[in-house]
Amino acid sequence: MTCDDARVLMHGHLDGELDLAADLEVQRHIEECPQCVSEYAAIRAMRTRLKDEEFRFEAPAALKEKIRRAIPATPSRPAAYPSRRGTWMPRAIRVAIPMAIGAMLVLIIAPRTIAPPLDQRLADEVVASHVRSLMATHLMDVASTDQHTVKPWFNGKLDFSPPVTDFKNDGFPLVGGRLDYINGRPVAALVYQHGKHVINVFMWPSTGATTSAMRIETEHGYNVEQLTTAGMNCWVVSDLNQQELEKFAGLIGGKG
Ligand SMILES: [Zn+2]
Repeated sequence: MTCDDARVLMHGHLDGELDLAADLEVQRHIEECPQCVSEYAAIRAMRTRLKDEEFRFEAPAALKEKIRRAIPATPSRPAAYPSRRGTWMPRAIRVAIPMAIGAMLVLIIAPRTIAPPLDQRLADEVVASHVRSLMATHLMDVASTDQHTVKPWFNGKLDFSPPVTDFKNDGFPLVGGRLDYINGRPVAALVYQHGKHVINVFMWPSTGATTSAMRIETEHGYNVEQLTTAGMNCWVVSDLNQQELEKFAGLIGGKG
């Protein structure tokens, strides 16, 4: 979303007139854009000011009376609906169709926009760890493209055995692994490569539900994907584009 778009849409946002997707997009832009946040604050301040008592005027009694006389008298009884037998059916359908369309829209839009956000603290932690691994000379403790070397390397170093698979044939070769520390515990970090991009996969046993919910988000310019697979909580981080990272996460989740 550009600032120009945001400036047009922020009025609708303030009035609650936007659809959910646009509303969230504007909200996000305003939160991230210093120019738009001040513009938004100014509009809000103006609205508040306009609601002030000192801007309200009581209409003179004569004017009220004049308006009242100008409005045609309302009929005493509302126009009756045709009361033929069977009319309930089309009316029910007339009500049901917009409701069904609304429900369908919710079903289509909801999974994308109402999905719970990534655990912010954990997402920050894995991104920080990813950046650290790239900056320092500590990308790998065990440098090997052989999954049969990497997997046993973790034995005795962790109280769980992470699943280690090489996805070389899919364009994501395994290059090594290391121990890392996330969420207050030692975790396995598997390192993959795709072209010049490094992908870190952090794994530790999942405590919650073992559903393989997959969520992707951008944090500080890195794409982060969280999924649960084979009882493991997996966080995939890279500067790789979302589409390719999603493909890779699909491989990790056994759905590639
Ligand atoms: Zn902006």
